[in-house]
Amino acid sequence: MSGVTLEKAIKRYGDVQVIHGVDLQIEEGEFCVFVGPSGCGKSTLLRMIAGLEETTDGTIKIGARDVTRVDPAERGVAMVFQTYALYPHMTVRENMGFGLKMNGVPADTIKEKVAEASRILKLDEYLDRKPAALSGGQRQRVAIGRTIVRGPEVFLFDEPLSNLDAELRVDMRVEIARLHNEIGATMIYVTHDQVEAMTLADKIVILRAGHIEQVGKPMDLYNDPDNKFVGGFIGSPPMNFLTGTVKVGAVHVPSLGQSINVPVTLPSDGTEVFVGLRPEHLSLTSDGTLNVTHAEALGGIGYAYLMSDQGEKLVVENREDPGIQAGATRGVSFDPARAYLFDAKTEARIR
Ligand code: ADP
Ligand code: MG
Repeated sequence: MSGVTLEKAIKRYGDVQVIHGVDLQIEEGEFCVFVGPSGCGKSTLLRMIAGLEETTDGTIKIGARDVTRVDPAERGVAMVFQTYALYPHMTVRENMGFGLKMNGVPADTIKEKVAEASRILKLDEYLDRKPAALSGGQRQRVAIGRTIVRGPEVFLFDEPLSNLDAELRVDMRVEIARLHNEIGATMIYVTHDQVEAMTLADKIVILRAGHIEQVGKPMDLYNDPDNKFVGGFIGSPPMNFLTGTVKVGAVHVPSLGQSINVPVTLPSDGTEVFVGLRPEHLSLTSDGTLNVTHAEALGGIGYAYLMSDQGEKLVVENREDPGIQAGATRGVSFDPARAYLFDAKTEARIR
């Protein structure tokens, strides 16, 4: 088992640079998730670690070993893709053992390793079936089984659940967490889904446009985002942002018609800021001038969608007002210590 280290890793396709000098330390045995919007470079970075994309500049280490120019097959990594191409004419057992067979591994060793992977993935009763007779989730488990039998030092997953339906994705998410607990290997997992990132990761790496925006434990990113992008990316529904201006030791927020005493070191008067408010930290009040444009009831909780006279939108997690309807007028209350401030120009957090 080994950790993974990236030092100033750069990827260019011709003149276009898509990964801009990434420094990152992934610890041995850690479950690390790369998350970010489509096109931000998650797959590219993963494929650079796998050796499937050449690293233009910088260094990639697996354990203490510099693998930057090492052949993919020699890196001790195994990758699971979104589209899992199983051999249709082979059974589950044969699919899982095929890579080892091609590498000349003795038959009894293959048998042992396939049995072990099958036990971990709960595939025992399907070993003699062909892929056509499996569900999507079972097929994906076979694809994961193919990597387990190789005993890699590092597992790489590129959006492995994206082709599954919503319910199955939740099941498989739990399975992958269990897999990590059981085999304890270093795993790097790419997803654009922040819920998957929050629920699976020991460490989340938030990427945007080929840069790391922030690295941290899920709840640290949720509680303490470094910038507006991270604040808005982690959390569902996303954080609300209202414009405000620093004025005599407080933040004036036109949409709320009030000044807020946020307990941070405020910049100078006149500085424009975004006030970040999470839906779950807001409560509806009866006195206010926000227009309810839409309301959703989900059973236990609901969401109210509000619009200020200034045209700014606000989503509120609604526990107290289940009968609320579009057309109503409400205010919001919240603990000012839970308001996040971001500089309007740099989008950096003001702490
Ligand atoms: P993600 O996995 O986060 O959706 P990718 O890593 O696939 O993003 O892509 C990152 C960026 O690199 C994108 O802007 C994409 O267009 C670009 N890119 C990916 N592959 C190539 C390629 N072979 N040639 C040129 N640009 C590419
Ligand atoms: Mg991708």
